[in-house]
Amino acid sequence: MSVQASAAGEWHRPGSLAEALDIRARAKDAVVPAAGCTDLMVGWNAGAGRWPTVLDLSALPELNRIDVDDAGVTIGAAVSCSRLANHPAVAGRLPMLVASARQTGSVAIQNRATLGGNIMNASPAADNPPVLLAYGARLTLASTRGSRSIDYADFHLDYKRTRAEPDELLVSVTVPFPSPYASVHYRKVGTRRAQAISKVALSVLLDAGAGVVREARFAFASMGPVPLLAGSLSAALRGRPLAGIDPALVTRALATDLSPRDDIRSTADYRRQVAVNLVMAAIADASAAEARRN
Ligand SMILES: Cc1cc2nc3c(=O)[nH]c(=O)nc-3n(C[C@H](O)[C@H](O)[C@H](O)COP(=O)(O)OP(=O)(O)OC[C@H]3O[C@@H](n4cnc5c(N)ncnc54)[C@H](O)[C@@H]3O)c2cc1C
Repeated sequence: MSVQASAAGEWHRPGSLAEALDIRARAKDAVVPAAGCTDLMVGWNAGAGRWPTVLDLSALPELNRIDVDDAGVTIGAAVSCSRLANHPAVAGRLPMLVASARQTGSVAIQNRATLGGNIMNASPAADNPPVLLAYGARLTLASTRGSRSIDYADFHLDYKRTRAEPDELLVSVTVPFPSPYASVHYRKVGTRRAQAISKVALSVLLDAGAGVVREARFAFASMGPVPLLAGSLSAALRGRPLAGIDPALVTRALATDLSPRDDIRSTADYRRQVAVNLVMAAIADASAAEARRN
């Protein structure tokens, strides 16, 4: 491990996960885990005074792996958005993850920004979390006490609050391959087509064999304090024929699921309307895909 001290504070760069967890366990909140630093640097540069003591995760082999098996892909927390989008298994089987990784800032940002950092920063506007929710991803967290796996849908508790303990690190994200009958749909709406934080973003996984909705997962960014799954909408659509779903039904369900706010990027009213439009567009897409299959 290398340790450097400067006006910026100490910078620990361990070479193994065990070493990193040991530092984390001893120092807890006194060290800040850092991966690509694209979120952290913004805060450090804006704030006054010294930088904190940093636990640099970028050299940990365990966090830089991408493993593929028949069921899905396990992505190390320190894998960058660029590497993710260019990986053959991700590109071939998880198109929404390619789309969201390529929406994460500019190419220069994508080269540094990690999947783990995007999750752990816990912004409700982040681009990759809705995709992970729609695919039904699981997280693996570790500490010196051991490792545990948690459904990503249970991870975010409230604005910038998660189920991660102060001595834990995010190690990896496992994304299952969807059924070949599922159609997926990703759309981010921002002020510009690139390099904009979302006003609304939606990821959808819809399984509608024989035209009837079997499974439907609609996950949103910028529609509440956390990235969220629209559970009432899923329940309302399950068992219904895909053709002829009424926008009024979608509007009613989303009124329960979503709690958007007015902020500098948009208004709550605009966000609600766009959310309904995006869901209807995803349903139309899935319907067209189903018609092509038959
Ligand atoms: C110009 C610019 C544009 C951007 N555009 C977008 C955008 O369009 N969409 C978007 O979603 N984001 C965007 N971002 C935000 C940022 O790039 C992403 O959130 C990125 O994925 C963060 O990853 P990172 O590795 O840089 O995280 P870091 O900055 O290193 O860390 C972020 C947070 O996660 C914690 N952390 C990191 N890794 C771990 C781990 N393994 N275990 C525990 N905690 C960890 C850190 O302590 C910190 O709290 C942008 C940022 C900038 C500067």
